[in-house]
Amino acid sequence: MHEMSIALSIIDAVIARAEQENSQKVNEVELEVGSVSGVLPESLKFCFSAAAKNTIVEGADLTIHEKEPLCRCDACGNHFQATDFIAKCVTCGSLKTTIISGRELLIKSITLD
Ligand SMILES: [Zn+2]
Repeated sequence: MHEMSIALSIIDAVIARAEQENSQKVNEVELEVGSVSGVLPESLKFCFSAAAKNTIVEGADLTIHEKEPLCRCDACGNHFQATDFIAKCVTCGSLKTTIISGRELLIKSITLD
């Protein structure tokens, strides 16, 4: 499962950070997920709590902020926020557009005890 491997790498990163800070408990993890990253937030939450079992991340709240993708129009150079998988330029109507962000998954903040 795609989300499970993502959840495991997030937890690894969170544990590494907590160890640096000599913390024994993680209270909250905030993520920023691009809405075209292919990650389903509900599925990721489920995998996160399963993968956190028996680690210092167990019981931590996971907050996911979904981010609309940013596109660039290849025809007129306009930058705009896409609200759908079909990114149509809002200025000239061209469908020749490139997604320049929105596929990423970032750990925004980690709250330690
Ligand atoms: Zn355009």
